[in-house]
Amino acid sequence: MTFPVVGVIGGGQLARMMAPEAVELGIELRVLAEGPEVSAVAAVKTTPVGDYRDLDALREFARDVDVLTFDHEHVPTEHLRALIAEGVNVQPGPDALVHAQDKLVMRTAVDRLGLPNPEWASVGSVEDLLDFGSRIGWPVVLKTPRGGYDGKGVRIVDGPEDAAACADWFASMSPLLAEAKVNFTRELSVLVARTPGGEERVWPVAHTIQVDGVCDEVIVPAPSLDPAVAQAAEAAALRIAAELGVTGVMAAELFETPGQGEGFLINELAMRPHNTGHWTQDGSVTSQFEQHLRAVLDLPLGATGVLGGVAVMRNFLGGANQDIYSAMPAALAAVPGAKVHNYGKSVRPGRKIGHVNVVSQNAADAELLREQAGRVASILRDGATS
Ligand code: ADP
Repeated sequence: MTFPVVGVIGGGQLARMMAPEAVELGIELRVLAEGPEVSAVAAVKTTPVGDYRDLDALREFARDVDVLTFDHEHVPTEHLRALIAEGVNVQPGPDALVHAQDKLVMRTAVDRLGLPNPEWASVGSVEDLLDFGSRIGWPVVLKTPRGGYDGKGVRIVDGPEDAAACADWFASMSPLLAEAKVNFTRELSVLVARTPGGEERVWPVAHTIQVDGVCDEVIVPAPSLDPAVAQAAEAAALRIAAELGVTGVMAAELFETPGQGEGFLINELAMRPHNTGHWTQDGSVTSQFEQHLRAVLDLPLGATGVLGGVAVMRNFLGGANQDIYSAMPAALAAVPGAKVHNYGKSVRPGRKIGHVNVVSQNAADAELLREQAGRVASILRDGATS
């Protein structure tokens, strides 16, 4: 046997962070990049530029790889079906991936599996939206089933008087997904991995904090989480992955809802390494990036325990500081135990530039770690003088 080649479609930070793990395993990684300067290009040797919406570009890229996987979920289903018909090994396959691409398909599947959804409906018009709101009560959350990310494609409709203003969305995409606005205590995430052979592993449930729809901070294990809820959430994510035929890493984003559903409701699914799993790089026996490679290659999966008592991840987005490296001395000196992960991207306001991980042996240190990770992230974002 020779070491295989894994081809990743998309050259963002997720593909970039697979690179060191591929090196360690001795696996060759190649990336189909959106352009010559995307995040993964500096970390991966072979990075042809091509459009993931162009079947011929995908075909050309797939020709010399042993398995094809993803940095994002935007590759058209029909292209993936065509590649599979031509013998390409695509992981995860299109029948699983569609549940991460289309929130209406995902809600339907969660109902079918008898797992806890918020109240939801497929709505084709302002009238349908008004019917849904009058049936379940306002406010309502309106979502584009496809193409949304980081809170784009999510709109709160406070009452019937605001429904008419949604006509622009119905004009550009229909049907849309309407959901009850969930009164959650916090957001949680469960990360699992599954191989084509059916082996599964789950990491401990994380508490995730979103700011303006973007993941900002993650604390693992979720502090003070009811053990029964944690167990049910892990079981739900494992079952979703098995029943939908997911391969690679999958994240299930949840709302914690004491007294409703199973103590949680499912928000959405992602089928790739996920921002809420970045803590695993420094906080788990096996990082999500290594696990994704193992899973798509149908290798045995690694252990998923937390290294220590608690781990915290803090993102830093583009802010006042244009020159991240100028702030590195102060950031690294501030907390010697912190691990900084830069994505090699130019700074633009609100763009994900990197993240900071900190881990402690003592589970009681969660608040200390949050302070430390926040301090390092803000030095990098705002500059050394902040
Ligand atoms: P995206 O695909 O952009 O990540 P999400 O469906 O995860 O979109 O929504 C983004 C954020 O909006 C969620 O993290 C949550 O904070 C909020 N949100 C989404 N759906 C609901 C809902 N039904 N009730 C309350 N808040 C919601």
